[in-house]
Amino acid sequence: MNFDNPSRELDFALRFARQAAEVAFQVERDMFSTLTKSDRSPVTTADFAIQALAGRLIHEAFPGDVLVAEESAAMIKDGKAPASLDEITKVLARIWPETTAERIFEWVDRGTGVPGDRFWTLDPIDGTKGFIRGDQYATALALVVKGQVQLGVLTCPRLLVERGKAAVVKTNEGSMLVACRGQGAWSAPLKNGSGFSSLSVSSSREPSHAVVVRSYEDSHTNTDQLDRLVEVLGIRSKPVRMDSQAKYAVVAAGAADLLLRFRSSNREYDAAKIWDHAAGALVVEEAGGCVTDLHGKQLDFSAGRTLARNEGLLASNRHLHGAALEGLRAITK
Ligand code: AMP
Ligand code: MG
Repeated sequence: MNFDNPSRELDFALRFARQAAEVAFQVERDMFSTLTKSDRSPVTTADFAIQALAGRLIHEAFPGDVLVAEESAAMIKDGKAPASLDEITKVLARIWPETTAERIFEWVDRGTGVPGDRFWTLDPIDGTKGFIRGDQYATALALVVKGQVQLGVLTCPRLLVERGKAAVVKTNEGSMLVACRGQGAWSAPLKNGSGFSSLSVSSSREPSHAVVVRSYEDSHTNTDQLDRLVEVLGIRSKPVRMDSQAKYAVVAAGAADLLLRFRSSNREYDAAKIWDHAAGALVVEEAGGCVTDLHGKQLDFSAGRTLARNEGLLASNRHLHGAALEGLRAITK
């Protein structure tokens, strides 16, 4: 990847990722209001502030481009969350002193775009529960063109990722990961930001030795099915529980071999949201891995805001993909 002479999109994504990590860090340090969405999942000041940041910056850099993102301004608009609106304003006023509530609504709602031929998709804080708990979270931005993810950037502020290694660290000592189609997957420490090194998946071929990563939250997956798969593959180690697309980062670095996500019992998540997978999936593929749904089907990012034509998710180091799919067939017989 040419970091010295980057494409406009790559340059933009890297600069955005760094700013987003700073916003998350500031929210973590200074203030913390947590709201609850209608599906009872939490959302914080950082989710809105980072989406507003993207809404404004993408519009300035690529005026014709659409943004498809997780949040909408409705929750902060109805006045039910005045603390949060004050906090969002404070955070963004550090970057743009002229920030007002009205402008924040406008920037956040730019994320309600309709996915078309070319769009950006953003999860401002992926793994909000992890962010609040003090565990993993990520900011994930991807560019999708004609149904294919072309660029993905992930910040994992609490995970230091290097080739062959992923270590839990204090916030802001973590990593930024980036992938462009055909140009590999790379990581750099968030702190200095330069010095990208390339990532590659593990070379393990023995299913029983596989390291599996899964959602931290039991309610985000199906633990019975996961346990059965682990059993049929003869996997000895316990799956590693981790929030957010940090899981994809761990697979891309070669520190885990399989990522599994089963359909949860929550109907709202019958189909996965595109922003929960686009950036992470490209990072794993460009590190040499393989990403499909649980039936081995390619992820279809042209079905709207969700992966409506896919069920569940399997990411692997490629060598173990076949064995995992076979195991999945065996447990669903
Ligand atoms: P993870 O930490 O991998 O489970 O991913 C976090 C993402 O899971 C969040 O950003 C949500 O989009 C999604 N999520 C939240 N609640 C659920 C649920 N009940 N079932 C499935 N996915 C969920
Ligand atoms: Mg998410």
